[in-house]
Parts: sequence; structure tokens; C-alpha cells
Amino acid sequence: MTCVRPRTAAVFLLMLSLPCLGAEPNQDKTRERVAEVKKRIGEQYDRLEALYKHLHANPELSLHEVQTAARLAKELRELGFEVTEKVGGTGIVGILKNGPGPTVLVRTDMDALPVIEKTNLPYASKVRVRDKNDNEVGVMHACGHDMHMTCWTGTARVLVGMKDRWSGTLIFIGQPAEEVGSGARLMLNDGLFKRFPKPDYCLALHCNANGAYGTIAYTEGLALANVDSVDILVKGKGGHGAAPHSTVDPIVLAARIILDLQTLVSRETNPTDPAVVTVGSIHGGSKHNIIPSEVKLQLTVRSTKDTVRKHLLDGIKRIAEAAAKGANAPPPEVTVSPEEFTPALHNDAKLTRQTVALFKEVLGADKVQERPPVMGGEDFSRYGREGVPIFMFWLGTVPPERMAASEKEGAAPLPSLHSDLYHPVPEPSIKTGVLAMSMAVLNLVGK
Ligand code: ZN
Ligand code: ZN
Repeated sequence: MTCVRPRTAAVFLLMLSLPCLGAEPNQDKTRERVAEVKKRIGEQYDRLEALYKHLHANPELSLHEVQTAARLAKELRELGFEVTEKVGGTGIVGILKNGPGPTVLVRTDMDALPVIEKTNLPYASKVRVRDKNDNEVGVMHACGHDMHMTCWTGTARVLVGMKDRWSGTLIFIGQPAEEVGSGARLMLNDGLFKRFPKPDYCLALHCNANGAYGTIAYTEGLALANVDSVDILVKGKGGHGAAPHSTVDPIVLAARIILDLQTLVSRETNPTDPAVVTVGSIHGGSKHNIIPSEVKLQLTVRSTKDTVRKHLLDGIKRIAEAAAKGANAPPPEVTVSPEEFTPALHNDAKLTRQTVALFKEVLGADKVQERPPVMGGEDFSRYGREGVPIFMFWLGTVPPERMAASEKEGAAPLPSLHSDLYHPVPEPSIKTGVLAMSMAVLNLVGK
């Protein structure tokens, strides 16, 4: 820089200042938008918190989201959306056309989990129902889908209030059965992208049990894994526990299969490709002195590439069959459940970058953090597989001081999603969620 002559320096300074001149009106526009969105959130906040607490206290299991869907449909109708119910079971689709422009889909899930809530909150769920095996189970929004629905409703309210500031079509969907991995598939099979306009973009948020409220986390590209559920029925030949030589013991065989399966990831998969094979349940036998005739195994299988997924699923069958042959047992039945498959989630790079840049402007760069992919699954991925750019971001929900305490050495970890103790802090989570989602939509359809 020392050799730059005064005149050149002046030109150089002018050049430097030009992008700033260009950027300022944009920043002004963002500031103005943020102010208006925040004002509208403030006006409706009490109502949103009441909705949140109502949904939290009245959770419904996957595929049973009847009252929840009816409530969301009512909220959208009051705002002027054209609402179709019972799309893919209990799913709802609300459309709001507001002139030419892009079509943006905002998705919330609606289902809760079979968990007995232990939070002791005044609005904690006390709901008990019978599950499909006729066992009494508690029901809890332990994954924060009640928070998703509240932010979704708040965003719809904000955007309807600001109709003169944007042009395009909004599709707000309430999706059933995310927790069992089937809701997105059911809605797509029922014509979500055929009976209704196919969106140009899909957006969703998910509660983050490891993020401070007021913050957003995101992953560009691969964010979540392929998830498969596999059942193995290990067959043997039952008999007396004192006469094992007259039987084929399926318990010993199941134990062998479980150990052999460990080599699928450790020996057969490229170490740079993430993969998980977990046997989450094993059931067999009824009494000490009886060798049973069968054992049931349930597995969760996770991968990030379709080729690795295929290798794992084929390998499970190969290993189980080979072990049975070695034990002189009948061939096992290996079932991969297509209904419970959730494809890996890839956040569209361009949409992620442009939305993250906006979040940094809105919340401050220190409040927006990139996080690595995890081996969890989310069927929001299916909308992306239909060729639509998608972006799902993580909404921080935990008090910053609790976060800090949990990070100290030896401290207990925070309750994770699905824990009977997990609960978002309503006010800052709702306000940040509605602000972020409203701004993300306006970024795509704003005038
Ligand atoms: Zn969940
Ligand atoms: Zn969830």
C-alpha cells in the first residue's frame, strides 16, 4: 500500500466505498423488516404462548393428530388461507395466493412421542393413551413439535399482516407422523406436489436441545442420515434347557448374529463414510429351562450414502443367513420396512447460504452457528428428494446459563430431544423462531 500514489489511492477508496453504497439500502430494508416483524410478534405474543401451552398439554401420537390438525386448520382459515384437511391422513395444506412470485412451502410436523412427561411444568402433558399393542403410554411433545407449530402459526400471522410487502404464494403444511418417518411420504403420495402448486422452496425449523435460545444452528449440504428399520426373526428348534443337543438354540444364534453385525461398520465400510448398525431390541424365550424356537431382533441402520445404505442392508441379510447356516438353523427372516425409511437430508447450498447470511444480519453473526451433520433422521428430506431446494435450521431453546453449566467438566448433559425432561423456554424460543422463519420467507418473496 505504501507505493499507492494519492490519485490512485482516491480511486481505490472510492472503489472500496461503492459496495457499501450498494449494500446500505439492503441493510436498511432488512432493519425495517425486522422492526416490523418484531412489532407484529409482540402484538400477537400472548396468543402464541397460549397456543404453545395448549398444544404442549394436549399432544397426540403419530397418525392420530386429529385435534392438533383441526386446531392448525382453524388458525390458518382465520388468516384467510384456503385449507385442505386430511391430506395423507391427518395432514393439512393451507394456501395463500398473493400475486405473482415464488411459491414457498413452510412445514411443521404435528406429532408427539409415547413418553411420560416429567418436567413438572404447569402446562405439562398428563395425556395417557393405549398404543397399537394396547399398552398404556404417556404422550409428550418431547421433540418440540409443539414449538414448531407455534412458530409456524406465528409466521403465518406475521406474513398475512405484511401482505403488501411481499408477492408470491405461501403453502403452509401441517405434516403428520414425522416420528415414525411416514408423514412426508403419506402427504406426497396423496398429491401434495400435484393437487397443490409445487413449491420453489421448502423451509422448516427444528428445536435444538443443545442450543441457547436466541441462536440458530445450521448445516449446509448433508445434515441428517438415511434411517432404516430392520427386523430379524432368528429361527431355531425349541426344546428342554437340559437337552441343548436336541435343539437348535436361537438365543446363541442371535448372539452370534449381533456380534457378527458389528463387523459391517468396523470392517466392511470405508472409515470415512459414517454408518451405524444398532440392535435396539432383542426378545426371545419365556423361562429359564426352555430353549425357545425363535428370537426377534430390531435394528436401526444409518448411513449417509445410498451405496453404503445398500451395502449395510444386503450385509445384514448375508450375515444373518450365514450364521444360521453355520448353526444348522432354518434361514432367518430379514425384513426391511420401506414405510419406516427416512432418506438423508441435504440442505440446498444456495438456499442455505442466502438464508444464513440473512440470519447473521438479523440476529448477529455470533448467534448463528454452523454444526456438523448428525446421524439422526428427518423426513423433511423427502421434499428435497422431489427436486425442491430445502432448508431446515435448528432453533436454540435452552437458557444460555444452563448451556454454560452443562459445558463444565463433569456436569450432567442437558436433556436431549425425546427426553421426558426436555422443554424449550417458550418466550425467547417462540420469538426467535417466528422472527427467523418470517424473515427467511420474506427473503424469498419480499418486494
Ligand atoms: Zn423426534
Ligand atoms: Zn422432531
